[in-house]
Order: sequence, then structure tokens, then C-alpha cells
Amino acid sequence: MGSTVLMPASSIFATAASNVATRNLSDDELVKMACEKISPSIFHVKFEDKGGTVVKDHVENLIKSLPDDLKGEWADKKDELLGCISETTTGFVVAEDPNYLAILTCSHSFEACYNASNPISTTTLKGLFKVSVRCDHEELNHDRRVPRVYVDAEVCRLDCKKDMLLLRVKKQGFCTRNHVVLDMADNLPPRRLGLVGMVSWPFDRHRTTVKGNMSHDLRGPEDIYDKNLHGYNFSGSSGAPLVDLESGVIGMLHGGRVECFTYFVSLADIKARLRSWGLIKMAGTPGSGTAAGSSSSSRKRPAP
Ligand SMILES: [Zn+2]
Repeated sequence: MGSTVLMPASSIFATAASNVATRNLSDDELVKMACEKISPSIFHVKFEDKGGTVVKDHVENLIKSLPDDLKGEWADKKDELLGCISETTTGFVVAEDPNYLAILTCSHSFEACYNASNPISTTTLKGLFKVSVRCDHEELNHDRRVPRVYVDAEVCRLDCKKDMLLLRVKKQGFCTRNHVVLDMADNLPPRRLGLVGMVSWPFDRHRTTVKGNMSHDLRGPEDIYDKNLHGYNFSGSSGAPLVDLESGVIGMLHGGRVECFTYFVSLADIKARLRSWGLIKMAGTPGSGTAAGSSSSSRKRPAP
């Protein structure tokens, strides 16, 4: 497949003109606009095991390697764990080049296949699952009398600790409509309880849109998990992008279990990983401007 590094494209968001046009809108109106703006860049991601016993064998081998105090617990849950796989997640466009779209989603839908001491590689993941995606435009035009069509996606990068999976999709033969690369926000919203929006795509619930208020970025994985068997080590945070009032991504949905709270992979972690994967240029590189806390120039991500 050659190099898996994709080039970020320039964004069309946050122009001076749009700032003028939106100056008099309420936060409610702005968050609604932000969610509408990002919707064409949201993808439905499907994981299907490759058949036979490859996934079952992999999980059984993983269980064998666990410490004795965990072995029984995982063995008891094996069927449940296997049943949780092949689910779907939400993904969003983070980069593109002339030939490919890069889509970021979460990796925990196959978390039965790894733990902190046994991380899974992209090569192993490719051997276990077929990954495919469907775009927003296709779903908008979906004729319910015919089966949905998904397009193959290639696993490019994986970071289980941060719950991030990067996929790429060939543009050739794919939907020709525009799937804009979503911007990363420069910073988190300055106000406590600032209004934020999220667009996700559970199966058959296309463009599920919610708004909420950001509380803080200090919660950890232990807030949603009794045990952190998978080694999640992000501080703060299923794949849907959380955006601010200017449509800038400020997090990616990881999970939620406590009352109305949900948890997100943090903006800093997303930026750091995209940078290390070559999708955002390093701060100080000519033509870049993507350092956390930089000026609004980071809204534009020219190709390297
Ligand atoms: Zn499309």
C-alpha cells in the first residue's frame, strides 16, 4: 500500500466573512450550525470479523496470557466479549490527499482483542477484521428497499491507549461529494460550561446530533471503568467528534456511564497523535501553525 501518511488539506472553515455573518447569532444557533457543517464529514464505520475462528482464537490466546486473577473473569466473559465485536462506530475526516480520505475513529469496539500488556498491532487487526465505511451523502440518499453499500477502509494507524484508529479510504470509485477535513480547535472553549455539539452515527440513526456543556478536562478513564484493563491513559475523555461553536473539533467520544456525563479523547491527545502520524505539521515548521494554543492560522492545514 506504500506510505500510509496522508496529507492534510486546507480547510474552508472559519473565514473572516463567516465570523461577521455569525456575530449576532446565539450560542444555540451557532452550535446547531456547527453540527450541520460537520455532518457531511461524518462516516459510519463497520467492523466485521473475517470469518472462521480467527477472532475467537485471538481472544483465547489473549486470555491464556493474562494473570491468573484475570483469566477466569475474561474466560467467563468471553462470549460476551466476542458478541460485542463487529459493532459500528462513528468516524470523521481528519486529512485527505488526491487519492485518499483519512478517517479517525475509536478503537475500543474490538477491545476484547487487547489489553494493556498485549496491545494489538495494525497488522493483527487487519488479519482479524474487515473494516468498511459509509458516507453521509450515501445515507441521505438511501433507498430503504435496498441494502446499504459500504466501501472498504484500510487500517493505517492505531493507538489503543488513546482509543484512536486511523483509516483511509480510496477516493477512486467513492462518493464524489465533498467530505471536508474537520479542523482541530486551537483551544478548548474558554468558558466553563461552554456549549458544545456532537454528531454521531449509530446504525440507522444517521446524523444523531446532541448539544451539551463541557465540564472540564480532568476526568480520567477510571471514572467510567471499574478496572482499566486496556491501559487507557488519556486524561479527560466511540468515535464521534465533539465541536465548539466554530466547528473546531475539541474531542472524540470515548464513552459514558455516569448519569448524563460522557467522556472524550482530549483535544491535546488527538492533536499529538495526528501530529506524530504526520497529519498535522510540527509547530514551527514553515507553512504550519498547528501548535496547541497557536493563532487561528491552525485552522488551515496546508499539505506538507
Ligand atoms: Zn459522500
